[in-house]
Amino acid sequence: MSTETATTAKNLLPHLSFTRIDRYLDCPEQYRLYYLEGFRPTEPSANLIFGQTIHQALAYLFTMNGDPGAFFVKAWEEIERMPVRYSGRATWSGLGFTGQALLKKFVDEEFPRLGTVLGSERSFELAIPNVDVPFIGVIDLVALRDGRLILADFKTSSSSYAEHDVALSDQLTAYSLAVPEAEEAALCVFVKTKEPRIEWHLSKRNGPQLTEFLRKAEYVAREIKAQHFYKRPGTWCSWCDFLPICLGDTKRAKEALIRIS
Ligand code: SF4
Repeated sequence: MSTETATTAKNLLPHLSFTRIDRYLDCPEQYRLYYLEGFRPTEPSANLIFGQTIHQALAYLFTMNGDPGAFFVKAWEEIERMPVRYSGRATWSGLGFTGQALLKKFVDEEFPRLGTVLGSERSFELAIPNVDVPFIGVIDLVALRDGRLILADFKTSSSSYAEHDVALSDQLTAYSLAVPEAEEAALCVFVKTKEPRIEWHLSKRNGPQLTEFLRKAEYVAREIKAQHFYKRPGTWCSWCDFLPICLGDTKRAKEALIRIS
C-alpha cells in the first residue's frame, strides 16, 4: 500500500476545526494518514457508530419532534448486518439495549428541562486571526435549559467524565467562540454503564481561555501548512487504526485499512 500522495495547500488544510486540531495534537502522523492519505478502517468501531446513531436520534427528536428510541432501533437494526468491530465484551444486542435505555432516560428526565431549541446540529464558520482558512464546526444543541441559554455537545462514554475533562475541553472553548451569547457550555454525557446514566457537565469560558485556544489553533494551522508530520508514539498507539502502517506491517495494513478518495 503506497503512502505517497500529492499534497497541495488545499488538501493540507481546506479548513480548520476542533477535530482537526485534536487529531493533529494527538499525533501529527495520524493527521496525515487520516486527512491527507485518506486511510480509514475497513471495520469501523462499534462504539463510534453507536455514538453517531445516538447523535442522529437526538437530532431527530430536536428537529422533527420524532421518537428518538424508535429512530435508534431502526438504525441499529441496519448496523447488525454491517462489518463492525466490537471491543471488549461489547455486542450488537448489548449496545442496542443500552442505546434504547439511554434515549428513554433522556426523553423522560432531560428533555422536559429544555425550553426553546435555537439550533440542533448547528453549523458555524469563524475567521480566526492569522489563519487563512475558516474555522468550522457543528454544535449538537443550542437551547434554553432551566431557563439559561446553553450550548451542548453530546458524548457517549463507558465511564463518567472528570471535572478537568470539561474545564479544559478545547471543543467547548471553540464552541463558546461560535456562540458567545451562551451562558454556559456543556458536555452531556451518555454513560454506557450497566445502569445507564446521563450526566451534564456545565462550564464557562473566560477571555484568556478563548485567547489561549486561538493561539493554539493558529499554531496547529501553521504546523500543518509547514507539513510538520511526525509520529508521536504513546499508549494511544494501542487503539490507533494506523498502527500497522507505523509498524511497517503491510499485510495487516491491507487487511485493516481502505483508502478513500
Ligand atoms: S500508531 Fe501511534 S505513532 Fe502511528 S499514527 Fe497512530 S498514534 Fe501516531
